[in-house]
Amino acid sequence: MRALTLDGNEVHPTKVVCLIVNYHAHGKELKHAVPDMPLWFLKPPQTIIGDGESIVLPELSENIHHEVELAVIIGNGGSNIPREEALDHVLGYSILLDITARDLQDKYIREGRPWSIAKGFDTFAPMKLDIVPAAAIKDPNDLDLSLTVNGEVRQSSNTKDMIFSVEDIISEISKVTTLEHGDVIATGTPEGVGPLRPGDTLHAYIESVGTLDVDVAKK
Ligand code: MG
Repeated sequence: MRALTLDGNEVHPTKVVCLIVNYHAHGKELKHAVPDMPLWFLKPPQTIIGDGESIVLPELSENIHHEVELAVIIGNGGSNIPREEALDHVLGYSILLDITARDLQDKYIREGRPWSIAKGFDTFAPMKLDIVPAAAIKDPNDLDLSLTVNGEVRQSSNTKDMIFSVEDIISEISKVTTLEHGDVIATGTPEGVGPLRPGDTLHAYIESVGTLDVDVAKK
């Protein structure tokens, strides 16, 4: 399992929490209603890979999608964290690609079955492993983010389009589960999600956070 690093020190997430439909425009493209509270699922931390590594397409799916997301890494953990204190619990920020087996997700939703395995295959969470300290980010709710595939811009937005702010997300998740040092929260993806093919190269960018480059393994 990959460790994250901050100033050379290793940080080990106990969980990766991912928001469901947290951008207005992405909700529209998937025809989802705007949620009235942050909704989320868990990815196994074993999904994490780093810069320069390869996403491996599983045999079970024929339609794998990219989702570029701002990742928040928790510093001081806690439960029932008040909204006003939420940013004091942030160690830093990073980039996470929430890779998704869209065909499996859609099928299981149609059948009324749980769909988290569509998000949980090994290599389905490429991350910028060296995280950026919280102090370097003025406002996480106002950052440009983008993703290009083979040089073509697929996703381009700003975290201002998020339905729930980073503060809301941390506070609401911590009402359910204790957030631990190193835990990763992926804050949802903007519009423009789409399919990946073997050999594709992905370049993700988030303002003040940096870049992440990975590819899709050839079969
Ligand atoms: Mg996502």
